[in-house]
Amino acid sequence: MRRASLGWTFLFLGFIATTALTAAAAEKKAALIVDGQNNHGIWPKTTQMMKKYLEETGLFTVDVATTAAKGTDENFAPDFSKYAVVISNYNGAAWPAETQKKFAEFVKNGGGFVVVHAADNSFPEWPEYNEMIGLGGWGGRNEKSGPYVYAKDDGSIVRDESKGPGGSHGAQHDFTVITRDAEHPITKGLPREWLHVKDELYDKLRGPAANMQVLATAFADPKHGGTGRHEPMLMAVKFGKGRVFHTALGHGDYSQECVGFITTFQRGVEWAATGAVTQPVPEDFPKPDALSQRKSAP
Ligand code: ZN
Repeated sequence: MRRASLGWTFLFLGFIATTALTAAAAEKKAALIVDGQNNHGIWPKTTQMMKKYLEETGLFTVDVATTAAKGTDENFAPDFSKYAVVISNYNGAAWPAETQKKFAEFVKNGGGFVVVHAADNSFPEWPEYNEMIGLGGWGGRNEKSGPYVYAKDDGSIVRDESKGPGGSHGAQHDFTVITRDAEHPITKGLPREWLHVKDELYDKLRGPAANMQVLATAFADPKHGGTGRHEPMLMAVKFGKGRVFHTALGHGDYSQECVGFITTFQRGVEWAATGAVTQPVPEDFPKPDALSQRKSAP
């Protein structure tokens, strides 16, 4: 009698647990990280770090789609329509034309897209991609790609049409990120200024910058080889019905260990996927004068 009732109890508990897990999985948003080529050799590790950051939120299931190591991968054709959001850790050869077309349709129709650091170097010849990311660098980008965009001390945005190459950076260093839009879901509740762990501070990015909001900037100090301008670090772009979050941060694994990177990435992916952010700012978020880093596995 006792054994039988114990059996029923376990069966019942099992049923409850299975139902709960199924419900939780059903509520999670599907995310896809694309990678496979990158001049940043650390990319296999940073993909795994970003996957972990997203899974830790409890909001996402995460798949990874990896291209061949070199050249256009004719077999690279992920089914983007299965996902709420795509994250790019890819800086390499053009995707097949059909894949590019399907990806642009995915975002235009309301899919989320998140572009991380060197992924904004990709695809200089793909107009829709450059509209999605707002600003890009290198790959022959110049005044034909769009204006330089940066902020004045007071936060007002300058669109500078002057001629010159797009994409540069000085020496890596710790730097201050300044929140410029304190009302956007991604940056709401962040300190006005926070110290970011050693990174490449991208400057002179240029692109169409249409339907783009600059959420945060960093001063590219000439003493480190920068422009002397407040350069966009976090951006939100509307592309059709789709939302794009662009973070210029994240050069090294150490840069991506910064709690400022982690938090804005997690919130940016949620916003791109859903249009809202439900994640609070964590207790260990960096301060104006104090770095905060969560060490990753070696
Ligand atoms: Zn870099």
